[in-house]
Amino acid sequence: MSPPSPLLHRFLQRLESVKPSAHGFSARCPVHDDRSPSLSIKEGEDGRVLLHCFAGCPPQEVVAVLGLTMADLFPENGQLRRPPPAPGVTRTALHAAVEIEQQVLFIVAYDRVKGKSISPTDAARERLAKQRIELARRAG
Ligand SMILES: [Zn+2]
Repeated sequence: MSPPSPLLHRFLQRLESVKPSAHGFSARCPVHDDRSPSLSIKEGEDGRVLLHCFAGCPPQEVVAVLGLTMADLFPENGQLRRPPPAPGVTRTALHAAVEIEQQVLFIVAYDRVKGKSISPTDAARERLAKQRIELARRAG
């Protein structure tokens, strides 16, 4: 298994009883009274830190208890690593994916127009959507 990225490493440092697991790491969940490590932490293909508490604690609460926000689970500059290209991506699939990303941009833009504040998570998702649309444009 490859060593954790600096982002994942910094996150793991804040947790207790961190152990490597089959797909990443396990640790004690800081939200509930966790005796056996039930928090699973792994790195997504795009470089994000993915969290899952098997007792059902939402990731938002896990990061809040650690003094972080969901935005801290994203690579520092907001630049997600490009996932390896899936074999046999068709033009139709690409087009459908772009439509979903445009929907994301629309929702965030709509919230802005309505005067709602945009959370760091939404802002990060918006940047990701723009990057994906740009990638798709370059792919043709
Ligand atoms: Zn938990």
